[in-house]
Amino acid sequence: MKTVDLRSDTVTQPTPAMREAMLTAPLGDDVYGDDPSVLALEARIASLTGKQAALFMPTGTQSNLCALMAHCERGDEYLVGQNAHTYRYEGGGAAVLGSIQPQPLVQDAKGQMSLVDIAAAIKPDDAHFARTRLLALENTWNGQRMPMEYLQQAAALARQHGLAVHLDGARVMNAAVDQAQANTSDAFTELRAITDLFDSVSVCFSKGLGAPVGSALCGSKELIHKAHRVRKMLGGGMRQSGVLAAAALHALDHHVHRLSDDHALAKRLADGLRGLSGLTVRSAQTNIVFVDVADGRGPALLEHLRQANVLATGLIGLRFVTHIDVDEQGIDHAVACVKDFLQSANGATSAPARSGGPY
Ligand SMILES: *Cc1c(COP(=O)(O)O)cnc(C)c1O
Repeated sequence: MKTVDLRSDTVTQPTPAMREAMLTAPLGDDVYGDDPSVLALEARIASLTGKQAALFMPTGTQSNLCALMAHCERGDEYLVGQNAHTYRYEGGGAAVLGSIQPQPLVQDAKGQMSLVDIAAAIKPDDAHFARTRLLALENTWNGQRMPMEYLQQAAALARQHGLAVHLDGARVMNAAVDQAQANTSDAFTELRAITDLFDSVSVCFSKGLGAPVGSALCGSKELIHKAHRVRKMLGGGMRQSGVLAAAALHALDHHVHRLSDDHALAKRLADGLRGLSGLTVRSAQTNIVFVDVADGRGPALLEHLRQANVLATGLIGLRFVTHIDVDEQGIDHAVACVKDFLQSANGATSAPARSGGPY
């Protein structure tokens, strides 16, 4: 049986049509600024996000770091969620490479920092303090779409205090598609509604959009000009990168609206798991499902699934992510395997007690 790989939406393989687009892409040398496919992608994503300019990046991590370093100088500070990707999962790059002080703030279960905490963390102009320059938000956060009212209020608060606002929108297309479904509107209209609130937006092509590599940073001409210098310094100046940009362009043309299929699969998975004894579905939105397993049985469940060709991750509870390379049959197989495990585990009274612990 084919492996049902639910570890992440980064595991997707380029489709035959995407490979064809890569194969036939016109190429140049992007460091000389003459790769037509890169230029076309940058123009396209800038226009979709309503920004003056965009820059193609090898990764989302580099894209976020270029944004932070373009917004902030050495000794500046940015406000960011305690569990946000740029703070927690990017090797501390802002501090290490940008000399930018992160001011992490507590997030609630929906990923939101309170407006009171944000306001309180903005430092006055005083030699004691780092200069607070930027607020960074993330959408989706752990698969959860940020409500527009929250984004509006947080962005307005930041602007009142003269801060810029950056969106880590690695999965912002998932947010836009989900929001479009909720509002019976169009995904690209909703994307604009979201991105209009931000000075800069980073978007991943290598996640749900199904491209093998790449992200883009979008913003004003001036900001992207600064980010371009930083990207070069970070080693992100690429040459015939049109071969990759072509995949991303293909994804923007063909893989945005279909994200609703991934969301439907995540819902199918969550519906299949909900109510099983020994397990709690903690959150299931867009394409990510988080599950808590009772009695520290998470690692054993992961191993059971692995032996049945179902892959998931277990860093913060079990995480299942749907994407273009899974289907209903695969999801149903995953649900059946979880049921198997719970039945045998619940039946075995002498099951060894495992301590909880992080897994
Ligand atoms: C994946 C991800 C990134 C980083 O993208 P890479 O291409 O893996 O470097 C940044 N932010 C969020 C929210 C992500 O999910």
